[in-house]
Amino acid sequence: MRLKIIRHEKKLCFSCDKIHDVLIVSREETVEVDGVKVTFPAIYEYCEEYDELTETEELMDENYKTMMRGKTNDTGRGNRNCA
Ligand SMILES: [Zn+2]
Repeated sequence: MRLKIIRHEKKLCFSCDKIHDVLIVSREETVEVDGVKVTFPAIYEYCEEYDELTETEELMDENYKTMMRGKTNDTGRGNRNCA
């Protein structure tokens, strides 16, 4: 599993229930949507103490949008629009 660290954020951690520097990370994921394979960077919060990824509702929403964007972009010939 390859994680890319995007930033740190001091906040209440959903994994260990403490306030600390939570890592915001992204991980490439491939899912199948309507028979189309979509690879997109999914965003998670990561607790170093528990070694656990958390997907908050906000992130779930964000990841869903990224996934759907990836789906429409992938109808071309693999020219991915990575920001
Ligand atoms: Zn934590």
